[in-house]
Amino acid sequence: MRLLEVMFDSMFVDEPISSSYRSGFVAMIGRPNVGKSTLVNYLVGEKVAITSPVAQTTRTRLRAILTTSNAQVVIVDTPGIHKPHHLLGERLVKSARSAIGEVDIVLLLLEACHPPGRGDSFIVQLLKNQTKPVLVALNKSDLVSEAEYLERENSYRNLFGDSVWPIYRCSAFNGEGCQELVRSLVSLLPLGPQLYPPEMVSDQPDKVVIGELIREQILSQTKEEVPHSVAVMIDRIEEITSGNKIKKGKSNTAILATILVERKSQKGILIGKGGAMLKKIGQASRLQIQEMINGPVYLELFVKVVPNWRSKPARLSELGYEVN
Ligand code: GDP
Ligand code: MG
Repeated sequence: MRLLEVMFDSMFVDEPISSSYRSGFVAMIGRPNVGKSTLVNYLVGEKVAITSPVAQTTRTRLRAILTTSNAQVVIVDTPGIHKPHHLLGERLVKSARSAIGEVDIVLLLLEACHPPGRGDSFIVQLLKNQTKPVLVALNKSDLVSEAEYLERENSYRNLFGDSVWPIYRCSAFNGEGCQELVRSLVSLLPLGPQLYPPEMVSDQPDKVVIGELIREQILSQTKEEVPHSVAVMIDRIEEITSGNKIKKGKSNTAILATILVERKSQKGILIGKGGAMLKKIGQASRLQIQEMINGPVYLELFVKVVPNWRSKPARLSELGYEVN
């Protein structure tokens, strides 16, 4: 009810909330694994993007919404830019590129714990060839000494050459520098009204977030054994208000999901000995989903082998990996 009221309100204000209110879009760009999703989660104060020590975790483009008293910053978390190896890779890069075209500011995320590499040069070139303002956040500052940090900042400045982009020291892990970063982002946004209800932190439907939470558990429980050839489709989400298993008066959410893999061997790993792995993934995912929807969840997972699903355009589209 409250959400609807707020949406109604914001649909019909044709004046900005105050004459100095700012709103707009920021594209978070960076190599895989630099901490884009972690930073998005830190900034909005909730888990809206999945993170993982395994590179290339984020597949779909997520809008995370940060509402402050004087601004609304919509952060577009893009899949990391890297050299495409197959069709899915190409789509990821295209999607990140097209995100730049749609935003007011580009936030380039780099990591202080590594010197610039070829991936960084690739992204810097891409950003030099466009006209949007660029802010740089040098993330993972918690992992390096002061001297190391300064050395890295210098090497990155050299890499930027004649593009004088401001660099912010930050840590998505402990929040260092995040306030200043947000302040600078806000100052670069155009004047404008609130675009989303203030309590909304993500534009993704529950189905997508739930699928991503399950995928995150698969990646973290199986480590490198089941790499990127895994996708999760949510087949059904149902509210159950009566039934044997349910305590009186408590609603329960039943979720049926299918995990797609490319090879039979991967299916074996996912299911595990006597179903132990799938059970572990299911339990961990269920806890995360319960936290997200604030109530008890019944989760059933199936594993299905679809050879080469990553190279089949129709399959990719069905899973929501579209290029605008
Ligand atoms: P993405 O691929 O750029 O979205 O990267 P993720 O957000 O998934 O993060 C990759 C890994 O780096 C994860 O294991 C995070 O926990 C870790 N990470 C991200 N930001 C920081 C940070 O500021 N400090 C530290 N120590 N680790 C971080
Ligand atoms: Mg990510």
